[in-house]
Amino acid sequence: MAKATKVRLLDSGTLVIDQSHITWNVGCGTPVRFPVYSVLIEHPEGLILFDTGFDRELVLEKLAFELPEQTEQQTIPAQLALAGYAAGDVDAVVNSHLHFDHCGGNKHLVNATTYLHEDEIREARSPEPFEVLGYADRSWDHPGARFSLLSGDVELADGVHLFHTPGHSIGHYSLLVELEGSRPLLFMADVSYTPAAYARDHQAGFHWNPVAGVRSIRRVKALARAWDAEIFFTHDMDEFETYKLAPSSYPAS
Ligand SMILES: [Zn+2]
Repeated sequence: MAKATKVRLLDSGTLVIDQSHITWNVGCGTPVRFPVYSVLIEHPEGLILFDTGFDRELVLEKLAFELPEQTEQQTIPAQLALAGYAAGDVDAVVNSHLHFDHCGGNKHLVNATTYLHEDEIREARSPEPFEVLGYADRSWDHPGARFSLLSGDVELADGVHLFHTPGHSIGHYSLLVELEGSRPLLFMADVSYTPAAYARDHQAGFHWNPVAGVRSIRRVKALARAWDAEIFFTHDMDEFETYKLAPSSYPAS
């Protein structure tokens, strides 16, 4: 058994939402541009991609108010190429959840098995009325897609841990990656968007169950302490600008 050797962050571009969606209904009327990225895990057991960004055309068609910015270089195939891979090289896709900004590139990963929580796929295929926009991209459900449905916490490969952290969505997973020779990396996906919100136990204004969401924030904090993990925020521009992006890696080569 061996741990992951490298983690690379794949830049997917940016979107705009209202501040109130980031900080629990506070700050209405202030638009905020935020990053979207995916996490590529190079592991002896295979190449794993956690989340796949958004599809610019889909967002322009169905959520144009989020003002998507994504260059050709920020698509999943181009970002994988930056890291030295083709889309067909990815063995496993894990979707933290199936909101459109986390699954838009699944369709490119034709040789991968898609791992996700069993409740998430059910919800995305038949969303509650208030979740319809979040689940607007159904291209992950393409012909030929192979799904492996999960429940509870899972160690997907040696040192690649998925923790069920529901609230933002019903089947939401956070990711912790153990690395040879450095601290574990903890990606909480959409449990909380920014350091300020996380410090106050504030989740995003968009959620499936806010009580579960607060419990998941506290769980992520407990995990970060227990594992002495380095925390990554998914949708915070200031944090994102401090991260190393592909082709750079964690740890540096
Ligand atoms: Zn998101």
